[in-house]
Amino acid sequence: MSTFSGKIIMRGVAAGALLLCVGVQLSWAWGREGHRLTALVAEQYLTPEAKSQVALLLGKETLADVAPWADIYREEYPETGKWHFVDIPSTEAKFDRIRDCPVSQADPKSPWRDCVTDRILYFEGRLGDESLSTKERAIALKFLVHFIGDVHQPFHALGDARGGNGIAVSFLGSSRCDSYNCNLHGVWDNMIIEEQGLNEKKYTERLLQEIKDNQWERMAGGEPTTWANISHHYAVEAMVPNDALITREYVTEESKVVDAQLALGGLRLARVLNRILAAPEAPAVPIAPTTAPAAPPAAPVVTPQQPPR
Ligand SMILES: [Zn+2]
Repeated sequence: MSTFSGKIIMRGVAAGALLLCVGVQLSWAWGREGHRLTALVAEQYLTPEAKSQVALLLGKETLADVAPWADIYREEYPETGKWHFVDIPSTEAKFDRIRDCPVSQADPKSPWRDCVTDRILYFEGRLGDESLSTKERAIALKFLVHFIGDVHQPFHALGDARGGNGIAVSFLGSSRCDSYNCNLHGVWDNMIIEEQGLNEKKYTERLLQEIKDNQWERMAGGEPTTWANISHHYAVEAMVPNDALITREYVTEESKVVDAQLALGGLRLARVLNRILAAPEAPAVPIAPTTAPAAPPAAPVVTPQQPPR
């Protein structure tokens, strides 16, 4: 993967402005629009058979409609929060499952751990398991659509500063990003996408054109851990210090990475769904488990100790 070199980072200037602002919101992966764009790309690459299976499972809703759902679900089930990312330290080049993917909080004996790469494989298995109910398989599909998006958001594969949530930045001269104080993770979730100034239809068209121009279909394969390693590489490249200014040049350069990751997320999601839904009797490739872990437990009454990302 190439290195993007156009970053100009100035420190400190935003600090005073930040002190004047109140309220902090932490970001949760690609924002709503990023998740929808990934799903909209995937819809273009589904086989007719997979398309009809998706329609059977989701009813009136589309892949794009359900793509942001897991972020809403985690509000009620915070123990699923760690399913959305993987904490690879910036000092390491590659994902290590024992180091970077904690054992399941809800079920410590589960063979499935609490990170996005494990949960993609877990829900692939459940989506393809015809012994499960339509409702259970629909939930698996909804998680899968979301998590294949998440693993392509570079800052979901970086452990430092909670994936950049802990890095305050100023975005194009403002310390406020939408309704919250800017942080690096949120810039990658939402602001770079918003800054393109495209509506959903136009942005999807742009991604589909970029796929053709760059022959990205050739990169539609791979495994979740490979996808996480690539995301991690991008995040390390795009890291900035606390109180950095995110410049126009940074946005222009990194929007290339954002587009590639949104498009590849869509292509890979389609590849996964085409495989599973074309032959639902075929077992998904598990990491190790021989028994399916329990479904998420009932809604807890406690609030999470760690803010979500
Ligand atoms: Zn998420």
